[in-house]
Amino acid sequence: MADKWQQYLRQQAELGGSEIYVAEAGQVGSGAVVGAQGVAPLPSPLPRVPAAVAWQKGAPPIPGPGLAIELPIGDLMGDGLGSLESLEAIAATVAACTRCGLAQSRKHTVPGEGNPNAQLMLVGEGPGATEDETGRPFVGAAGELLTQILGSIGIPRESVFIANVVKCRPPQNRKPLPDEAAACLPYLRRQVQLVRPKVLLALGATAAEGLLGVRKSLGELRGAVHTFGGIPLVVTYHPAALLRNPNWKKPTWDDVRIARQLLDR
Ligand code: URA
Ligand code: SF4
Repeated sequence: MADKWQQYLRQQAELGGSEIYVAEAGQVGSGAVVGAQGVAPLPSPLPRVPAAVAWQKGAPPIPGPGLAIELPIGDLMGDGLGSLESLEAIAATVAACTRCGLAQSRKHTVPGEGNPNAQLMLVGEGPGATEDETGRPFVGAAGELLTQILGSIGIPRESVFIANVVKCRPPQNRKPLPDEAAACLPYLRRQVQLVRPKVLLALGATAAEGLLGVRKSLGELRGAVHTFGGIPLVVTYHPAALLRNPNWKKPTWDDVRIARQLLDR
């Protein structure tokens, strides 16, 4: 009986029915009878739950724990940013910042933007040309792909907060130098403290290394759920890397589905 019932639920999910009926574990099959005509009337009463959605099909399980990074409380880092009490205050400080050499060549600072109460916070490397022109993160080609990736797990871009390791564009889009990343990271840490997302998603090795304070390859950092100040942190490919190498789309899809499951947990 339970098998028939599960088959029915599977079929409903595959057909994309907007709602399915699911019994409590112990309830499955308790009241239903399979007669000569096939499936019996639905056992009732049963709770209604949303149907399975496309991203769930074949999603990998949540992997085990990786690195655990503690976030200093208040101003223990001595970075002087503990007094910045809002994302707007951070953006204003960043706009006048000359802590590193990237200040010289920037057109606009790109402090980050999005929902201040986001459940999901994304971290990239640093502004590119379009971001430098507009002052907004991930608005070029990589940004469009990022919006699509979020959509694929049912997350509207407006619902997340997006920031970068460095807030000023490195010349020729080169990787930020270690001293540039070190100078700028306190802003990102403070942004994480203020947004307090449920899940962090690091896009690319620069973001992952910056947050976790390690030098490792993306391959070494994927496949585990790290924690940053107690917040689960998933590492995946940078969308610009996906534009160059489409083979990384499937592993990225798997990573964001892990992030999605952590959000739903
Ligand atoms: N790449 C990044 O890492 N960040 C952006 O904001 C845009 C492109
Ligand atoms: Fe300041 Fe960061 Fe810009 Fe460097 S990259 S000048 S630390 S805001």
